[in-house]
Amino acid sequence: MLTDLPRIRKDIENLARFNATPGKGLTRFSLTSEDRGARNYLKDQLGQLDVKVYEDAAGSLFGRRDGADPSLPPIMVGSHFDSVKNGGNFDGQAGVVTGLEILRCLEENNIRTDHPVEMAAMIEEEGGRFKSGLLASRAMALGLSLDELEQRRDEDGISIAEAMRSFGFDPSRIGEARRNPGQLRAFIELHIEQGPLLEKMNTELGIVSSIVGTDLMRVNIKGRPDHAGTTPMDLRRDALQTAAAVISMIPSFAMEKRDGTVATVGTFTVRPGAPNIVPGEVEFTVDTRSHNASSISMVKKQITDNLEKTSRADGTTFQLDQLLKVDPVAMDKGIRQELQDQAEALGFSWQAMSSGAGHDAMVMASVFPSGMVFVPSKEGRSHCPEEWTDYADLQKGIELVYHTVISLGVSSDQ
Ligand SMILES: [Zn+2]
Repeated sequence: MLTDLPRIRKDIENLARFNATPGKGLTRFSLTSEDRGARNYLKDQLGQLDVKVYEDAAGSLFGRRDGADPSLPPIMVGSHFDSVKNGGNFDGQAGVVTGLEILRCLEENNIRTDHPVEMAAMIEEEGGRFKSGLLASRAMALGLSLDELEQRRDEDGISIAEAMRSFGFDPSRIGEARRNPGQLRAFIELHIEQGPLLEKMNTELGIVSSIVGTDLMRVNIKGRPDHAGTTPMDLRRDALQTAAAVISMIPSFAMEKRDGTVATVGTFTVRPGAPNIVPGEVEFTVDTRSHNASSISMVKKQITDNLEKTSRADGTTFQLDQLLKVDPVAMDKGIRQELQDQAEALGFSWQAMSSGAGHDAMVMASVFPSGMVFVPSKEGRSHCPEEWTDYADLQKGIELVYHTVISLGVSSDQ
């Protein structure tokens, strides 16, 4: 293989050092000192190559190797370098290291593609800090408003805009991060599978055909806090009773679609939150995902209808906030074909897969021709300290993307 296994391992291990929770998995939130450390490591590695290193207005890091024809749009290879809280060393990082290793190999092997080749290391994909996922890819593909950067805050009340400013970025320039359709020849993301299928099927690589759509909403229910001893049951406006009734129905709403639709209540807060006070306020999130956009909107409507009915009966009120909405998206046919052809030529076993997790590639694919490669996750584990991909497996994925980039990098005019 042309890619370098010890170097790939070293990158992953070095990036893992920039971690807010050593010994308890990897925690690297965006625009923190851990972000700075990982970013500087990547800048240092890129600095050893003949590439232009730059950051966009959203705070993502890029390394661009010129192509033979400066008029052609680049092929971008990358992923995110933020993590969830107490996550693992491979989610996101694997794809960033892929971009870096490909730049090194192009230089070492003296390969000049017609199209430029760019590595992308993107921020805030997980939304761990600001609960605002896929931030960098949304800024790049769809455009972000300054408003969102000012509204979204971390647990300490710091907005994205404030965090950007103290990190050295100018949030008012966020519009400049957006790239128009046609400004990228391709976006390719390698990612760990985060599921057990490849390992179970004993297959080396997954070539992603489509990614599920995601709808994330926050539900806030307001009742009235009262004394738990002196307030009769029929005079209560208990926000938690409304929430419980609504939440208990959500699994059946998802299951009755019979198309793999899933819905999850992943956070839940009760206020004031004392044993002797009737809950006056409850807040929770509902994350709904499906390959069918219609199933997502159907589940959402059922939840909203149920909320209206139940809160009316309980004397409570509610408010819905849309935190994230991404439609299901298909990967580019031509890039999928190229990945498949290269996998065959390299002798790797592969299978077409759909992704149940959201990725930057899903946002990018809505505007740019995009492809995605999965490498096996040990026991399907991810978003936990046990997250693991064998380095030899990761290398095969990187090798596949490397050959695909070279092949896509030839100008179609020739
Ligand atoms: Zn990821």
